[in-house]
Amino acid sequence: MTPVPAVFLGHGSPMNALDHNRYTEAWRAVGAAVPQPRAILAISAHWYVNATAVTAMDRPRTIHDFYGFPDELFAVEYPAPGDAEVAAEVVDALAPVWVGADLDSWGLDHGTWSVLVHAYPKADVPVLQLAVNALKPWAYHFDLGERLAPLRDRGVMVVASGNVVHNLRLVDWAQEANGTDWAHRFDEAARSAMTTDPHKVLELQLHPDVQLAVPTPDHFLPLLYLAGLSAAAGRPAEVLVDGYAYGSLSMTSYTLDLHCELADLPDDGPAELPDAPPDEANI
Ligand code: ZN
Repeated sequence: MTPVPAVFLGHGSPMNALDHNRYTEAWRAVGAAVPQPRAILAISAHWYVNATAVTAMDRPRTIHDFYGFPDELFAVEYPAPGDAEVAAEVVDALAPVWVGADLDSWGLDHGTWSVLVHAYPKADVPVLQLAVNALKPWAYHFDLGERLAPLRDRGVMVVASGNVVHNLRLVDWAQEANGTDWAHRFDEAARSAMTTDPHKVLELQLHPDVQLAVPTPDHFLPLLYLAGLSAAAGRPAEVLVDGYAYGSLSMTSYTLDLHCELADLPDDGPAELPDAPPDEANI
């Protein structure tokens, strides 16, 4: 049996949840190509805490963890169920790494639901989140990605959600669908690693533009889970869709063991940022 595909999706602004653009259409194509996984294990940049944990509640709440956006975005609900059995399988897969079972703290944050409202609009596939442990180095996250590989044979789809390049302090409003030179350099180096030898993603720690592209690790680290899964599979990832936003964000998304033909994607940019300063909006 072919393992269930895994993906990294560049989520950008939470407004992508309400928008329809080249990125959201690509996410929709992923859902169409993998219509009914047993469960989704989401690894979102926005559950970035000092622990490794997995959501294990039956009914994860929809978390609106951002500021300065319109009411209609706060009204979005993504009522996918949880799955305690799959949570236990995640704990087993990652052992001996200790993983806390979260019953009442988190739920589904916008890194997860802003992409899943497009990929799985019916919210009928159980969704769990794995926290991104802020205390750990890059290699730890890559290693956890490798350890998650057996879950793909049990019907679990890993959906990592972040942005390869994510610097909210250097947002340039004049470059709505463009990236600065350093954003291009870093994103292209990541692409070269992901599509040839995923182990090389760890070398990006030494890239000359890493401080600009990854000023904080939260949005980058989810990529390392797909890199680890790719290393475990012995196959590189493919680019699903790519592009830039506001100079300092890359929207590149990757797939593993899933080839989507996206011939008719609109040639537009991602959804807008909020009126609030982006680095205070928690996007
Ligand atoms: Zn984000």
